[in-house]
Amino acid sequence: METPTKAIERLRREIGPDLSILAHHYQNDDIVRHADLTGDSLELARKIPALSARHVVFCGVFFMAETAAILANPGQKIHNPEPEAGCVMSEMAPEVVAKAVMDRLATLGRRIVPLTYVNSSAGIKALVGAAGGAVCTSANAKKMLAWALTQGEAVLFLPDKNLAQNTADQLGLPPSERALLDIRAMGEKLDLTAAAKAKLLMWPGLCLIHHRFKTEHIASARQNAPGVKVVVHPECPPEVVAAADAAGSTSFIIRYVAEAPEGAVVAIGTEINLVRRLAKQYAGKKTIFPLIPSACLNMAKVTEAKLAALLADIEHAPATRVDPAMAASAKLALERMLAVS
Ligand code: SF4
Repeated sequence: METPTKAIERLRREIGPDLSILAHHYQNDDIVRHADLTGDSLELARKIPALSARHVVFCGVFFMAETAAILANPGQKIHNPEPEAGCVMSEMAPEVVAKAVMDRLATLGRRIVPLTYVNSSAGIKALVGAAGGAVCTSANAKKMLAWALTQGEAVLFLPDKNLAQNTADQLGLPPSERALLDIRAMGEKLDLTAAAKAKLLMWPGLCLIHHRFKTEHIASARQNAPGVKVVVHPECPPEVVAAADAAGSTSFIIRYVAEAPEGAVVAIGTEINLVRRLAKQYAGKKTIFPLIPSACLNMAKVTEAKLAALLADIEHAPATRVDPAMAASAKLALERMLAVS
């Protein structure tokens, strides 16, 4: 019987240049080995308009395929082998709640510019785009927050409170100028007095996979491997970022390891698939290990069997769809980011 690996290889040959497979850095090696391109969510989405393939398969979580569909060319179809692969962080900012919170904040009469992390639904990106705001990534958050702060009296950053705090730290925005929003009861519990004063209003979302990393893990890595360098993702809590030697996006982490001298020992605080891949890639030259193993179960929902099943009938497979009006507003937010960063 043909294995999923062999089936994917055969189907890729049969479909030919009409197919491009993209994989996020957090996908496991079984998927990455079939990818034409690997990268972070935005690096990959950015490349889509230049792809001539009619069928683009995005191996990642749902918001990534949605972002890709918003940026795709007419006639191009974006597929996800597992449309049920969600993102816990993006689900922490439901559109209906964000709309209620934004309406309540609007009663303050301040010009509040929304800035959403790319790890959010198309609905959130559309709300942000329609309100004059933009998208950011972990790679350009500093530049985008600095931009947003010049566009109004305050910025509403969503959904990741850790990325918001870490970026504010980078910009030197004092904690007294930040307010963590209480979004319960559709915004009824918001502290409007605090929101009226703060320059940065932070949505209380987070990534459970990165929020697991603790300063104790860094302390024990330093104790067990003297001379170790610690690099973490900015979705980690601020005290973890402060205790690390460096913090940055997945692309930054990949570069950090590549530029480390031979013999270097690097402990990494991000999703385990990327850490394992780097450890394998530099085996014998550099020692790479995770602060603790932390896996994104949604990323793991994309399997070779599901990829093979999708490719077997790709002409009839339903593509990722975003309502056209929503896509137009979301595209505005994405384009503002592309123009600024
Ligand atoms: S690692 Fe975190 S932010 Fe990334 S897809 Fe998984 S839950 Fe979402």
